[in-house]
Amino acid sequence: MAATIIDGKSIAAELRGRIAREVARVAGRGVVPAIAVVLVGEDPASSVYVRTKSKAVAEAGMRAIDRTLPATTSEADLLKLIADLNADPQVNGILVQLPLPKQIDSQRVISAIDPAKDVDGFHPINAGSLARGLPGLVPCTPMGCVMLAKTVHPSLTGMEAVVVGRSNIVGKPVAQLLLGQNATVTIAHSKTRALPEVCRRGDLLIAAIGRPEMIRGDWVKPGATVIDVGINRVPGDGGKGRIVGDVAYGEAEQVAGAITPVPGGVGPMTIACLLLNTLRAACAQNGLAEPAI
Ligand code: NAP
Repeated sequence: MAATIIDGKSIAAELRGRIAREVARVAGRGVVPAIAVVLVGEDPASSVYVRTKSKAVAEAGMRAIDRTLPATTSEADLLKLIADLNADPQVNGILVQLPLPKQIDSQRVISAIDPAKDVDGFHPINAGSLARGLPGLVPCTPMGCVMLAKTVHPSLTGMEAVVVGRSNIVGKPVAQLLLGQNATVTIAHSKTRALPEVCRRGDLLIAAIGRPEMIRGDWVKPGATVIDVGINRVPGDGGKGRIVGDVAYGEAEQVAGAITPVPGGVGPMTIACLLLNTLRAACAQNGLAEPAI
């Protein structure tokens, strides 16, 4: 039987609606959450991401402050901008679009962001808080993955979860969130032996690899829930590229119990979770109660 499709697009739209209602509520208390979106250079993919994020911010009733700098910007100038945004009480969240040009050390820039405004959740303080199970801002894509998994399994307690990928942006934080939800978590990576076998252990399988359709249908445990984080452009018909995930969707959907499509799965949740982090940051900075979402 074909798997249930986890419709990230409509789940994200519903979440964005709830966020917009909370934004309207805090606006009544005189707070309009604002996020500074910093783009250095003109990388076409990054420019599209930044435009999409700024549009979603505006649609939720929040303020997007776009700061676009030339590709030749020095690290010192970017750090100066970050310091100004940190000091600006009108700015609740700071997002620096990655990758940065090679003359700039990304880690130094991320570490310069005020952790309270780090809506990407990449600052070492927020990463450490997540690892310790302490409150903090959590990376958006992992948060979205767990929300999607919970639409199928309201409780993840005791579930066998396999995460393929150990990046600081997705793999590690999603594994820590799952651990926080009392799942039994295995983190696999490029040096993992017998990867198909390891994947087949997962009641919940999360793929964050960056390799088009690497996870085949027979790597999936029958009935498992599959969350595909991958976004890979491959050649398509008529010379046009198309986007596929890290999971061979056509095969996996025959075996899985539930699966996210690509596109339309994790991607839309990432943006919704960015809005949620911005709202949470604004509430925390203004002494307002945590939004009821
Ligand atoms: P990344 O930093 O390149 O990490 C990839 C991970 O996959 C690494 O841990 C790597 O292992 C592992 N890996 C690579 N080849 C492997 C193999 N043959 N077998 C097993 N593991 C392997 O990538 P990322 O930033 O985590 O992103 C992963 C994917 O998610 C990409 O397609 C990216 O575009 C996508 N993504 C999507 C969203 C979204 O909003 N949907 C957000 C972020 C990322 P090692 O550590 O051993 O090298």
